Amino acid sequence: MAHTEIEQGNLITAGKAKALYETNNPEYIWVHNLDQATALNGKRKEAVADKAYYTNQISRYLFEYLNQKGVPTHYVEALNETDSLVHRLTMLPIEVVTRNYASGHFVSRFDVEPMFPLEPTVLEFYYKSDALDDPFMNDSQILALNLASLESITRIKDLTHQINPLLNQLFDEIGITLVDFKLEFGRNTDDVIVLGDELSPDNMRLVDQTTGDSLDKDVFRQQTGDLTTGYAQVLTRLQAKLGE
Ligand code: 5GP
Repeated sequence: MAHTEIEQGNLITAGKAKALYETNNPEYIWVHNLDQATALNGKRKEAVADKAYYTNQISRYLFEYLNQKGVPTHYVEALNETDSLVHRLTMLPIEVVTRNYASGHFVSRFDVEPMFPLEPTVLEFYYKSDALDDPFMNDSQILALNLASLESITRIKDLTHQINPLLNQLFDEIGITLVDFKLEFGRNTDDVIVLGDELSPDNMRLVDQTTGDSLDKDVFRQQTGDLTTGYAQVLTRLQAKLGE
């Protein structure tokens, strides 16, 4: 179905950065990005002009890139500047964090130097729960809580290990270091686990290799500057690399 035939339906849920809507095709979900930034698991919330445009466009470039590389994702296509069409997924309540360099919680938890290179790459799971502040969890906790099977955990890890070098290389080619990022996975209507959620500087740390500037949401989290300046940099470079 071409997206011109897709019609926006009822609101399913409104999250911190996105609102999800039904469409006239049960296979698809309409993702509307919001001009809103949050930190501290939603406890701090502010309106940010044009943020929806940047997150939607950056996510589109990154998902289309991964789709082209053969990574199974939920992404279908952009609907307009701030909205995208995705396949309906049943999300796993697990956040998968990949760390190439020490930053954020890894620095505070283990008292290592920021940007200490992590070899092998660190992969962490968190239980997706605002009420519990997304606690850290390991494989056996996921199994014991019946959140995913061993087979599903293995697939999530394999997909993450496929995605990390692809994103690393892409960002490296546009002068950006991919420090860490968070992924979420879900089951599609064929019961296959694919990459879902969004791919934007809201859920990854990106550092300009020339200036050392932070081009991601840390600027908002730490209140050190204007969030969209960095997002615009990321989008401009992705556009130059991958085309319109
Ligand atoms: P940290 O655990 O150091 O706070 O975050 C590691 C990476 O995962 C960062 O790139 C961060 O943006 C992302 N991340 C971790 N938890 C969340 C979350 O709940 N929401 C979002 N948007 N990103 C997260």
